[in-house]
Amino acid sequence: MPEAPKQAPKPADDNLHDKNRKALQFIEDVTANADEVQRRVLAEILSRNAHVEYLRRHGLDGQTDRESFKKTLPVITYEDLQPDVTRIANGDKSPILCSHPISEFLTSSGTSGGERKLMPTIEEELNRRSLLYSLLMPVMSQYVPNLEKGKGMYFLFIKSEAKTPGGLVARPVLTSYYKSSHFKERPYDPYTNYTSPNETILCPDSYQSMYSQLLCGLCQHKEVLRVGAVFASGFIRAIRFLENHWALLCHDIRTGSINPEITDPAIREAVMRILKPDPKLADFIEAECGNDSWGGIITRLWPNTKYVDVIVTGTMSQYIPTLDYYSNGLPLVCTMYASSECYFGVNLNPLCKPSEVSYTLIPTMAYFEFLPVHRNNGAANNPISMPKSLNEKEQRDLVDLVDVKLGQEYELVVTTHAGLYRYRVGDVLRVAGFKNKAPQFNFICRKNVVLSIDSDKTDEVELQNAVKNALNHLAPFDAIVAEYTSYADTSTIPGHYVLFWELSLNGSNPIPPSVFEDCCLAVEESLNSVYRQGRVSDRSIGPLEIKIVEPGTFDKLMDCAISYGASINQYKTPRCVKFAPLLEILNSRVVSKYFSPKCPKWVPGHKQWSN
Ligand code: AMP
Repeated sequence: MPEAPKQAPKPADDNLHDKNRKALQFIEDVTANADEVQRRVLAEILSRNAHVEYLRRHGLDGQTDRESFKKTLPVITYEDLQPDVTRIANGDKSPILCSHPISEFLTSSGTSGGERKLMPTIEEELNRRSLLYSLLMPVMSQYVPNLEKGKGMYFLFIKSEAKTPGGLVARPVLTSYYKSSHFKERPYDPYTNYTSPNETILCPDSYQSMYSQLLCGLCQHKEVLRVGAVFASGFIRAIRFLENHWALLCHDIRTGSINPEITDPAIREAVMRILKPDPKLADFIEAECGNDSWGGIITRLWPNTKYVDVIVTGTMSQYIPTLDYYSNGLPLVCTMYASSECYFGVNLNPLCKPSEVSYTLIPTMAYFEFLPVHRNNGAANNPISMPKSLNEKEQRDLVDLVDVKLGQEYELVVTTHAGLYRYRVGDVLRVAGFKNKAPQFNFICRKNVVLSIDSDKTDEVELQNAVKNALNHLAPFDAIVAEYTSYADTSTIPGHYVLFWELSLNGSNPIPPSVFEDCCLAVEESLNSVYRQGRVSDRSIGPLEIKIVEPGTFDKLMDCAISYGASINQYKTPRCVKFAPLLEILNSRVVSKYFSPKCPKWVPGHKQWSN
């Protein structure tokens, strides 16, 4: 006879409660002991990597204390690391940066020389990423109860991957995570119970992936308690896809059969487990989507939704009005702050306003240091630019996690378990408060970025070079661009880059529209690979637009900027305009506009690998 269990199994609710409590306790513990945890993390990283080439090259002879570390190692950028990264990419398996084998490269949306930066990573980093994810729902459940009783409709996607010459996979961090067993083989958990079956997320064809995720989300519409995507731009793209495809989707729901364009057998099988003929649901969706207004479409189609889980901090804040419109003002929740280099922290007050979001850095994730940033007061429109390399004094200015000051801005510098040492991430953060001893940061901006629509990040130098390349097309007409500026137009879906050009014309021949279209394309061809991928593969960025403005427009722009307080002596044409009165001046003087006629060239992987 089987033995009776000694203890009755715990009901599922108790288990969940226990797990939540443990996660919150973990946050309490590591934030209360932030400095001790940081000291331990640094010692761990330095002792296990004591013999790697990078640390020896810089003269750190096995010391693991903060003082030796700070005295010996330089604060670096990606460019400093590039020769080592190239060796690893080419197949050098010796311990250059890390004693653990580099398992793959994570391709950052930050670029260097027009190509994605390659961040080395090791297998165990997946555990750290999973740990950070595991904190999000326990935090959320403190504010929104009963989320375990339904599902999350998240639009999640993988992107193409490439192989380095040495055979390592190179792909974005989320693609790596979704393809890992941590995600694919996750045990049942009500908090990772999504409407999208794994097969729909793991399909590299973005049309099939989006279509099938929406279909599954619609079929399970009553169960959905939260909706989201990683970034706001991705979520809005899903709504636009629905606007364009709801009739097809309704047909599938009405008949219980899948659109023949969905050819991936794994997706078809997974969707068929969910899709049943449901004419009533199809009628309901048709009625809602056929309505002239799409205001509140999220709450109309998914009536039990409590919040929209998307990042709307940083450049993504430009999407807040659109999200408010579609979601009828549901809370917009930014849960975490992360990058390819390292996952950083979580938002402990997720229902706060987007403008008040702060992220608490989790001290076990990496060793964090902070470089004070001093900006001109009131220069909110000035992109932050900093010297490429730091002098000795600046290196000494770096402060530790627990020593940052309330209200002060800092650039984030990390030392990771995977082999980055005192690496400048490129983000500027402001201290908004503290959770125990651990600071909480507002995300201020990414250094130098002037234009961004999705995950693309275009800086002033890239823009300048791209405009310069396009000018070749105007030379035969004896025309030059006397002044230019730019704008990220997110009123279209997807958003697109707009350049305002004021021309100086010396020739008498009129310039045909096709020449300006060639200019649009030439700018796009010159922009970095993340931008071009967004145009070609993800379709997350629309065709670039050039607007020609009347002569004298940029003088008016200057007058206006000065009337708002800019200094006459120091006035420089801003290379990107966000301030509404300035945009109004530009838009009111447009004489003609042109769009890029086709997509620029883009192939997965680094340019040099395809040679
Ligand atoms: P990637 O290296 O492509 O993964 O991009 C990481 C970068 O995205 C970060 O360094 C930030 O600039 C930006 N980012 C990530 N999470 C957030 C967030 N919650 N708010 C604002 N920006 C973010």
